[in-house]
Amino acid sequence: MPEPLPRVGIVIPLYNEEEALPGFHRMLCQSIDALPYRFTIYYVNDGSTDATARLLEEIRAADERVSVLELSRNFGHQAALTAGLDAAEGDYVISMDGDGQHPPELIGEMLRLAESGVEIVLTQRAEAGSLSPFKRRSAGLFYSLINRIGETQVLPGGADFRLLARKPLEALKSMPEYHRFLRGMVSWIGFRTVILPYRQPERLAGKSKYGLRKMLRLARDAVFSFSLVPLYIGLSMGVLMLFLAFLEVIYVLSFWVTGNQAGLEPGWSSLMFVLLVVSGILMILLGFIGVYTGFIFQEVKGRPVYILRKSEPARRPESEPGEQ
Ligand code: UDP
Ligand code: MG
Repeated sequence: MPEPLPRVGIVIPLYNEEEALPGFHRMLCQSIDALPYRFTIYYVNDGSTDATARLLEEIRAADERVSVLELSRNFGHQAALTAGLDAAEGDYVISMDGDGQHPPELIGEMLRLAESGVEIVLTQRAEAGSLSPFKRRSAGLFYSLINRIGETQVLPGGADFRLLARKPLEALKSMPEYHRFLRGMVSWIGFRTVILPYRQPERLAGKSKYGLRKMLRLARDAVFSFSLVPLYIGLSMGVLMLFLAFLEVIYVLSFWVTGNQAGLEPGWSSLMFVLLVVSGILMILLGFIGVYTGFIFQEVKGRPVYILRKSEPARRPESEPGEQ
């Protein structure tokens, strides 16, 4: 009997992607049909309110490699990815967006690298040509911040388009944290990694599902779950304040030493200024502590990252070698 072909899972989170999904699935099939692997495609419907669910039923009926997971509401991109990664079987698992911005042509190259012994294949946007200036600038700022203050280096321009071999995938699955920034988590687990650059095309159709709110939430999760630096800001501010107070004492004393007490102004404005600055800093730092406490609270509750409404396996039994 010939060796069975390696199994590959492809995880694709979808939120209201009715416009892009049919085109995306065609594009994906064109790229993987000829590859010598047994593919299972895991579409994760992240609480879509449009026709995504119905389209997924049709796609699953027509393509026996397709498995459909449905979350009970919109849990967000990172949670939907996590649901797919938890369910995915296979020697290699690839995650990508369902809007065509992660070109499926790269899958062949990713698998070649994986078979040569690489355990993680990351991708990096070569030129963010298709990004709006705002998104490009905010992404640049975000990566320089997280790499400066975080303990884990995150690839700038990295995407949630990557391949994980079984071992790193199991390592990732052993991290149960509620606030998930998968790019940071994948970098944290280590393993032999290569980076594949790619040009990011425009979305096939529809609008971005990452509004400002979702972007800010991801940035918050990245900063506060990968860094304690915001707390140290407090410490250094405190030290600075004490130092200023010390200088002030010397300054005031100098008037007394020189017998010039009358030269001291009743300094309402300077007092007010110091008061406002100090209380502002205190508020901000209390806020940082509040965020960490909130994160701890959410972790302690131990809630699941996502909840499945249903999980429909691919119609082709996993153990059978594929004809593709
Ligand atoms: N997505 C999701 N849940 C969300 C938001 C987005 O599953 O709450 C999916 C979306 O359908 C797409 C991927 O995550 O497949 C990336 O989202 P999008 O393309 O909107 O983000 P952008 O490329 O604009 O950063
Ligand atoms: Mg996109």
